[in-house]
Amino acid sequence: MIPVVALVGRPNVGKSTLFNRFTRSRDALVANFPGLTRDRQYGQAEHGEYKFIVIDTGGITGDEQGIDEEMAKQSLLAIDEADVVMFMVDARAGVTAADQLLAEYLRKQEKKVYLVANKIDGIDADSAVAELYSLALGEIHQIAASHGRGVTALLEKTLLPLADEFTDMYTSEVEAAEKAELEKFALENETQEENKLKDKPIKLAIIGRPNVGKSTLTNRILGEERVIVFDMPGTTRDSIYIPMERDEQKYVIIDTAGVRRRKRVNETVEKFSIIKTLKAIDDANVVLLVIDAREGLSEQDLTLLGFSLNAGRSIVLAVNKWDGLDTHVKDRIKSEIDRRLGFIDFARLHFISALHGTGVGHLFESVDEAYESATRRISTSILTKIMEAAQFDHQPPLVDGRRVKLKYAHAGGHNPPIIVIHGNQVKKLPESYKKYLMNYYRKSLEIMGTPIKIEFREGD
Ligand code: GDP
Ligand code: GDP
Repeated sequence: MIPVVALVGRPNVGKSTLFNRFTRSRDALVANFPGLTRDRQYGQAEHGEYKFIVIDTGGITGDEQGIDEEMAKQSLLAIDEADVVMFMVDARAGVTAADQLLAEYLRKQEKKVYLVANKIDGIDADSAVAELYSLALGEIHQIAASHGRGVTALLEKTLLPLADEFTDMYTSEVEAAEKAELEKFALENETQEENKLKDKPIKLAIIGRPNVGKSTLTNRILGEERVIVFDMPGTTRDSIYIPMERDEQKYVIIDTAGVRRRKRVNETVEKFSIIKTLKAIDDANVVLLVIDAREGLSEQDLTLLGFSLNAGRSIVLAVNKWDGLDTHVKDRIKSEIDRRLGFIDFARLHFISALHGTGVGHLFESVDEAYESATRRISTSILTKIMEAAQFDHQPPLVDGRRVKLKYAHAGGHNPPIIVIHGNQVKKLPESYKKYLMNYYRKSLEIMGTPIKIEFREGD
């Protein structure tokens, strides 16, 4: 469970500056889904061991008409989606009517709200922020977003209590429900299948832009006879977790399209939500990204792919609606994918028709393979042997007149696999050699479907 932080406030108070600072360590991936999220940007951020999703909004002016009205609407939606709100004001500008309005609104919400006074650089901050107490939002967190001053303190105040709360919430509600269902699931299967099933379910998130066919695919998967499905409890704002079994392997489908929910309850569910998608990616072992063949590869597909890679997830790509297309259209799509997805050639690519069921079964072969690759335990001796072979085939270059020497390698984590290489001057290895090592490992170990990370450590 990853918390969501929304940045709200008037235009020009420094929200984007803070957003960029939060998302800096990873590439600031901005999801811009026209018609859905105008004026809202989403990013993945982390501070130490804490990960969070951050939403940036256009701003509220207090003079809500036309474009402003739209901006205000987006801010309210962002507040609604968030667990925590950072209400930013400009310490130099004083309190405006718009600030008062927003403060009043926020005080009525049952959300954690942090009042953040920005641009305290080069001014007498204490006296500048004094009048902000009139907003009645408690403590004032003073920062200079463009310099980074106060940002760490702010994050620590915000994220620490959140981390506890989220762990508790997860254990008490979601995990308990999940556990109970899964235990029931295991018990029911035990009698007929004994212990043939692999005990750990693979969490598979089915993601993609609106209308690419996620619901159709999820229904297709769940509708197949061999599958046993259990509904899981969940709120309308979260994905539904659906445990199922197929060919003696257990899965939990993370249904971002809300298929089950819509069937069960008579309510309108937001059909697509970036927050839902980001949370699903965060919680999954394997991400199945559905792409619409009829629309071709879009920027949003690449954004979702970027989010998944950033999170270190295994990935399977499904190009859907492959039915009834001309050969030349198919060729054009294939070459476009080759060209633009070359950087992720380790992910298996499937051409499917969720509507007719064509190719759907084979997806699971790739899902299993990706999961196996991502979680495989590999010994130090094997990792070191492969490193030596790579070094023998192609020597590391000279750096400052000295040859870089790789000494040994060991595993540093799984899902995604992390390989740690120790040696002399290893940090100075050029990117090309790092890439060579990565590919060497990938080929030698037949690792498919998952990104690999290599970390370099100086010395022994
Ligand atoms: P937004 O409209 O709320 O997203 O505001 P921006 O992040 O675009 O910032 C508006 C302006 O304020 C830009 O010119 C920033 O460079 C400037 N700014 C942001 N943070 C600071 C700060 O901490 N100190 C100062 N002096 N200027 C800042
Ligand atoms: P979602 O928003 O990603 O859940 O997309 P839906 O599953 O609701 O599908 C959007 C539209 O695409 C619907 O009209 C589906 O019938 C259609 N669709 C989904 N899969 C296929 C497919 O494989 N082939 C064709 N031709 N249409 C499909």
